Amino acid sequence: MVAVIYHEDFGSKGHSVLKARIKPSFEALARSGLLEGDDVQVFEPAPAPLELVEKAHTPEHMESMRTESYNRMYYDVALLSTGSVLKAAEMVAKGEAQNAFAYTGTAGHHASPGSCWGFCYFNDVAISIQRLRELGLERFLIVDVDPHFGDGTRNFFGDDPNVYHINFNHQSNSNFDGNKNNYDVGIGFDAEDGQFLSELDNAMGMAKDFDFQICFVIFGHDSHADDYGGFELTTAVYPKMARIIKEAVGDKGVVFVLSGGSVPEVASKAIPEMISVLAER
Ligand SMILES: [Zn+2]
Repeated sequence: MVAVIYHEDFGSKGHSVLKARIKPSFEALARSGLLEGDDVQVFEPAPAPLELVEKAHTPEHMESMRTESYNRMYYDVALLSTGSVLKAAEMVAKGEAQNAFAYTGTAGHHASPGSCWGFCYFNDVAISIQRLRELGLERFLIVDVDPHFGDGTRNFFGDDPNVYHINFNHQSNSNFDGNKNNYDVGIGFDAEDGQFLSELDNAMGMAKDFDFQICFVIFGHDSHADDYGGFELTTAVYPKMARIIKEAVGDKGVVFVLSGGSVPEVASKAIPEMISVLAER
């Protein structure tokens, strides 16, 4: 079963750049027929518990989130977005779902312990990994396919060899640090489908030797040519991407986390097609 975690607040109260895609893509998912059987089920998240968020972020950052006007306006929806990823991660880790797709209203990969930028407020994946470690999991694979460098996630886990961080970005070269398990996949600006998929296939092949227990995919469709992220991908790439990742992860389970992207037409095609791939047996 694929668990889809969704809340209507993501579309109404999410970040102004990100929110227009939420409702149309969820309606497209409903129209697809995927929700009619038992293979794909929708769950509503609760806000992430504050004590978990406060373990990941500094008191100064929490204070800034509560008091600075440009942060405070997204405080509630950022907690709910983190709760969405947390629910997805816990369901997969506990075997309640094989795979999951977590909608969000704010993103997370530019949120560091003590700061944030780029439509990100709390690092949803880092907070979820902390929680899964409380449940006994130790080793994690993060595949960040959002074209922007996930600096916040790197600041959390860059020195932690038990988190293998594949991080697509705009640089012209790739760099692998095998001691810390950080793989920066630089595919430049204007990267196209073929280049992206072959680099992804290669990166997932490298990560197979790392004995991870669960995989997070930071999915930003700002990689689409019509979106704002500086890659030139087409909608055809996303189900292919999902298949490569799903086949490499196998039965360990994968949690897709919605990240950058603004164009409703892109999300409305990509998200149902990716969830369909995740639901295949
Ligand atoms: Zn991005």
